[in-house]
Order: sequence, then structure tokens, then C-alpha cells
Amino acid sequence: MQTFNYVKPASIDKALAAANGGKFIAGGTTLVDLMKLSVEQPTGLVDINLLPLDKIETLPTGGLRIGAMVRNSDLAWHPEVQKSYAVLSQALLSGASPQLRNMATTGGNLLQRTRCAYFREPNAGTPGGYGCDKRTPGTGCAALEGYNRTHAVLGTSEHCIATHPSDMCVAMAALEAVIHAEGPKGKRTIAFADFHKLPGNTPHIENALEPGELVTYVDLPKPIEGSRSVYLKLRDRASYEFALASAAVLAKVEGGHIRYVRVAMGGVGTKPWRSHEAEAALMGKTADAAQFRKAAEAALAGAKPHNDNAFKVELAKRCVVRALKMATS
Ligand SMILES: Cc1cc2nc3c(=O)[nH]c(=O)nc-3n(C[C@H](O)[C@H](O)[C@H](O)COP(=O)(O)OP(=O)(O)OC[C@H]3O[C@@H](n4cnc5c(N)ncnc54)[C@H](O)[C@@H]3O)c2cc1C
Ligand code: SF4
Repeated sequence: MQTFNYVKPASIDKALAAANGGKFIAGGTTLVDLMKLSVEQPTGLVDINLLPLDKIETLPTGGLRIGAMVRNSDLAWHPEVQKSYAVLSQALLSGASPQLRNMATTGGNLLQRTRCAYFREPNAGTPGGYGCDKRTPGTGCAALEGYNRTHAVLGTSEHCIATHPSDMCVAMAALEAVIHAEGPKGKRTIAFADFHKLPGNTPHIENALEPGELVTYVDLPKPIEGSRSVYLKLRDRASYEFALASAAVLAKVEGGHIRYVRVAMGGVGTKPWRSHEAEAALMGKTADAAQFRKAAEAALAGAKPHNDNAFKVELAKRCVVRALKMATS
């Protein structure tokens, strides 16, 4: 067993000071699993459950500020989220199980790690174990020639094809959320699109946070008047399962034409996948099935399937089309 230090500070300053090479722990629903599997072996845990980051507040701009410690259930059932950010509520409620959502936090969900089975093998990235460039750079990627049915088709590299598993993040990508972080160098904001990193040559670098940086809040912009939003998740079973393909859509239609649209996809990308291509194919066009299909084709034009996951390309297209129909009818 590996020992680690454990502290539970009550202020952000004390949490930052305590970080010192260790890891923050929020709901623990990802981190504890990964510690049991030896994927994560922190020397210290900074429990952030006492930090004053558990509020959902309306911003003077009309947007919403979500504390990093807001539980996924509380966020999903918040009246303003249900009314004005339905896509986020639906995405959260499609994830995991009620028990997990009661523990899982906004910050932890942003930072959850891939479900790639090779990555989660205790010995991956070690001599004699499966190659995993995400676990140990330079050891290869067992999924490339292995079983890769659930892996990504967009944003992959020769070093990693792992899917980003979050539903919440897909909705936040479409909503153009902004992440607030605080660390040893001070406070800063990070646009959602810049937060998660493509694997490229460095799949072990998954996000824009620097060592010891804490996510404090996530801001959502003011809702677009007259828009509607939908999250559609397709998976092997109806609950307690990660997405094979999902789509988050925000759309505003006037006089049969699309005046505003945002499209993001889950289950198919190495990060929550905003599709500017789909949006460009839709803006100003008629809101009909033919146009939705063109948008879906554009969204998946760059897809690179592997042995077992080619089905995801058509599945994701149909998911985008259906979500667009739901958001515009
Ligand atoms: C069986 C199961 C099924 C699941 N199904 C789904 C699903 O269908 N869809 C889905 O989207 N998710 C699913 N999940 C994942 C779940 O959503 C995440 O485990 C959860 O959101 C993580 O939140 P947490 O607060 O428990 O994070 P923790 O486990 O506490 O932390 C996760 C990571 O985030 C870091 N961290 C946490 N908070 C902060 C912060 N404020 N600042 C900086 N770093 C921080 C931690 O150091 C750690 O690295 C599932 C999980 C399980 C176990
Ligand atoms: S897909 Fe990524 S996480 Fe999975 S084995 Fe390959 S390098 Fe590791």
C-alpha cells in the first residue's frame, strides 16, 4: 500500500498552500478508483470539501456562476439550470447514477479521466504491462491495435485515441463556459475550448491547469433569448453507461431559418468536441432534415475510425441530426 498525507483545509489560500505536489480531492468518485488501480499515486491529498465553492449564483451579466464544489445533482436540478440551460441539466442527469451524481462535483467532472480499459490496467505503461503513452510517455498505445470500440474518432493521434468521457463537459462546450482557476501564480480564466488538450505527442497533458492550480468556478454566459437546447446521449444501455455518441445543441430558429446554433459532441472526441463545421453549415440556413444531415456530415468529416469503432461515425451523425430536430421542432 502506498501511504499519502491527507489534509482538509477550510480556505482556498490554505488549500493552495497545502497542494505542494499532491492532488485535490472533491467527490472522490474518479480519484479514489484511480488510486485503487494504481493509476494515480499521489503523495498527498488536499480534501476541498470545506471550501466555500458550493454555490450557484446569478451574475450581474445575466449569466450563472457555478462553484467547483457544486454537486452534479444540485446543478442538474437547480431551477435556473433547468429553465435556461436545459442542455446542461440533461447532460448531467444522463451521467452515472443518482448516488454518484450526489457526490460528483463540477470541478471533478471537468477533470475526470478517460475510461480507456488499457489506461485503467494497474500495470499499463510499465515493463510487461500494456503500452499507454498517457500513463507513461514512450510506451506506445495498446488501444491502436487492440480493442477500441469505445475509443475516439476525432482529435486522435498516433499516441492516444482515448475518448473524453464527460457528458457535462459536452454541454459546457456548447454553452461556451469559462473556467476560473486559482493557483500559486494567482487567478485566471480559461475559455472552455482551451481547457482540455488534444493528445498530440503529449497525451499525458490533459488540460490547461498548472501544477497546484484549483478550479474555483465555472461561468455560463447569459442565455440566448428565444433559443432552445437539448442533450442527446446514445449508449449501450439506457442508464449508468458512458456515451458511444452524444450531442449538445443550442439553437434559435426564426421564420424557419437558423439564427443561432452551437453544436458539441461527446463519446467521439479525445476532448469535449465543439463542431464549428456543423455550426457553419447551419447558420442562416433553413431548419430542415436535409440541412441537419449536411451539418452532421461536416461535423464528422475529419473522423478517423479504428478497427472496432467505425460504427461511431454514422451513429454520431444520426445523433447530431436527431438532437438538431429536437432543439428546433
Ligand atoms: C461507475 C461510474 C459511472 C460514471 N458514469 C459517467 C457518465 O455516464 N457520464 C459522465 O460524465 N461521468 C460519469 N462518471 C464520472 C463522474 O462524473 C466523475 O467521476 C465525477 O464527475 C468526478 O467528480 P468528483 O468530484 O468525484 O472528482 P474527484 O474524483 O474528487 O476528482 C477527479 C479529479 O479532479 C481533480 N479535482 C477535483 N476538483 C478539483 C478542483 N476544484 N480543482 C482542481 N482539481 C480538481 C482531482 O484532483 C482529480 O484529479 C462515472 C463515474 C463512475 C465511477
Ligand atoms: S488510447 Fe490513450 S489511454 Fe488508451 S492505451 Fe492508448 S495511450 Fe493509453
